[in-house]
Amino acid sequence: MRKRTILVIGGAGYIGSHANKALAAAGYRTVVFDNLSTGHRRLARWGEFFKGSLSRPTDLSRCFKKYRIDAVLHFAASAYVGESVTDPAKYYANNVVNTLNLLNVMRAAGVKRLVFSSSCAVYGEPASLPMRENLPKNPVNPYGRTKLMMEQAMADYSAAYGLKYIALRYFNAAGADPDGEAGELHAPETHLIPLVLDAASGRRPCISVFGADYPTPDGTCLRDYIHVTDLAQAHLLALRRLEAGGESRAFNLGNGRGFSVRQVIKAAEKVTGLKVPVKLAPRRAGDPPALVASSALIRRELGWKPLYPGLETMLAHAWRWYRKANKGVL
Ligand code: UDP
Repeated sequence: MRKRTILVIGGAGYIGSHANKALAAAGYRTVVFDNLSTGHRRLARWGEFFKGSLSRPTDLSRCFKKYRIDAVLHFAASAYVGESVTDPAKYYANNVVNTLNLLNVMRAAGVKRLVFSSSCAVYGEPASLPMRENLPKNPVNPYGRTKLMMEQAMADYSAAYGLKYIALRYFNAAGADPDGEAGELHAPETHLIPLVLDAASGRRPCISVFGADYPTPDGTCLRDYIHVTDLAQAHLLALRRLEAGGESRAFNLGNGRGFSVRQVIKAAEKVTGLKVPVKLAPRRAGDPPALVASSALIRRELGWKPLYPGLETMLAHAWRWYRKANKGVL
C-alpha cells in the first residue's frame, strides 16, 4: 500500500520537528515545508524537505504538485505574545495571510485534511479554571486574535468547501525529544524554560520574573506545561481521526496542572543541580495570571494521554537537549 504523504508546514521548528518524527515513526511519508526563517534544517531530519514560503502561494502549489499530499499539519506561525503587541503587522501577515494562502492552495489541490496549531491564547483571560473548550474566546493580544481568526476561517471553509480540520489549542509546550533528536532552538529566545536554563548555566546573569504581584498562590503567573512529545502524539491522533472521517473541531491540549514561574525555577534548580539567579521585573503586556487546560475532551474523544506529564521530566529532557545544543559553549 502507498504510504500516506503528510505535509508538515513548519516542520523545521520546535513543535513541528517532534510531530514530523512521530509521523515518520508511525509509518507516514512526510514532507517538511519550511522557509527556515526561524526553523533549522537540521531539525527536519525525517522525510523530505521542501524549502518554500507560505507568503508565496506558488511555492505551495509547486510542493503540492511535486508530492501527492494527503493531509497537512500546519505549525508555521509567529508565536511571541509580547512581539505580537509591538509588531502586529508581522502577526497578521505570517499567521493570517499566510494561513489563508495555505487554505486556498489546499482547496485548489483538493486536499481536505488539516491539523492546525492553535493556542490557549484564543481565550484571553479565562472566567474559570480549568479551561474548557466552550469558554468565551476573547483574546487579549494580537497573537491570540490571529489564531482565533484562523479557527473561524477554517470553520467557514469547512462549512462551504468541505475542509476537515482539527485545531489543537496548545498550552505551554516544554521539554525536548526523549531520544535527544530534537528540541527548542529559538533565536532570540523568549520562553521561560530555556531562559531559566541559560541562567542556571551562566549564559545569562539571571532570569527576570515578569510580575510577582498576580493573584496566584506565590504571586507569579501559572501556566500549564505540556511535553512537546505529548503534543506531537496528539497531532498523530488528530490526523487519524480526520482520516477516519472525523468532523472539524477544536481541542485544548495541556496537562490540567498549573505551575508558577517560581515553581518552574525551583524545579530547574533541582534537575540541573545549579542555582538560578532571579530578578523581579514588571509584568509583561498581554500575560493572563493563570492558564490551565481541561483536556477532558481530547482524552475522551481522541484517547490522548500524556506520557510525560511531570514538570521535572520536561525540564530534564529540556536540559539534556540544551547541553547538547550548546556543546562547545558550556
Ligand atoms: N516569563 C518570565 N520571565 C521570562 C519569560 C517568561 O517570568 O523571561 C513568564 C511569563 O510571564 C509567563 C510564563 O513565564 O507567565 C511563560 O512564558 P513563556 O514566554 O515561556 O510562554 P507563553 O506563556 O508566553 O506562551
